[in-house]
Amino acid sequence: CGITARVGRGDAVDELVSGLRNLEYRGYDSAGIATANADGLDVIKRAGEIDALCDAVSTASIRGRIGVGHTRWSTHGPPTDANAHPHTDCLSEVAVVHNGIIDNHAELKSELSTHEFTSETDTEVVPHLIEEFLSAGYSPEKAFRRAIDRISGSYAIAAVFEGSDTVFGTRSGSPLVLGRSEDRFYLASDVPAFLEYTDEVVYVEDGDVVTMRPDGYAITDGDGVAVDRPVETVEWDP
Ligand code: GLU
Repeated sequence: CGITARVGRGDAVDELVSGLRNLEYRGYDSAGIATANADGLDVIKRAGEIDALCDAVSTASIRGRIGVGHTRWSTHGPPTDANAHPHTDCLSEVAVVHNGIIDNHAELKSELSTHEFTSETDTEVVPHLIEEFLSAGYSPEKAFRRAIDRISGSYAIAAVFEGSDTVFGTRSGSPLVLGRSEDRFYLASDVPAFLEYTDEVVYVEDGDVVTMRPDGYAITDGDGVAVDRPVETVEWDP
């Protein structure tokens, strides 16, 4: 299982899908991507092989310079199209990909009883929590941070919002690495996801919150204070 995300110059779709293919070795039973564009969020996800996702992508009008991708290894809910990630809130304001397990998902789901859930995953509480904070007037960044504060478990999470050019990411107990090129930024569970585009990486640590925009990225702690994470050059034979 794995997550990918990217922002920057050019279209995100091909890079997200190739990133997922390069994470295939981690094992998966479903795959999906979401992009943000001027019309909102586009989401395509399929149970089964990445080829099934590619077929769906090739006949759909999904586009955008910013997006997230996921290969799923089910822990909560069988491998179905509905349970595949990304997951969105009721209003389709945010799309979330997640690796790991949200331990307090049942408790959060009962708190969110007015929300209509469309999957059996533990993950889906995250977009619904974010929606709650957006409705309360928080910015996407604040809503993301507040939602993350509420979850416990093991996770690497990335999210894109309608009408925002920022990808947000965080981790706790699941791997997450940032890739930096001249005009594009990536987030992924592992380096092979973006190694064909850049070998400059930053290893994200537990509790870090990453914000990536087309013009740069920032890594902060849970309180929004900048943390210093070194940029490393990976040597890897793709
Ligand atoms: N627990 C989540 C699910 O079952 C994520 C699984 C994963 O890491 O791929 O959908």
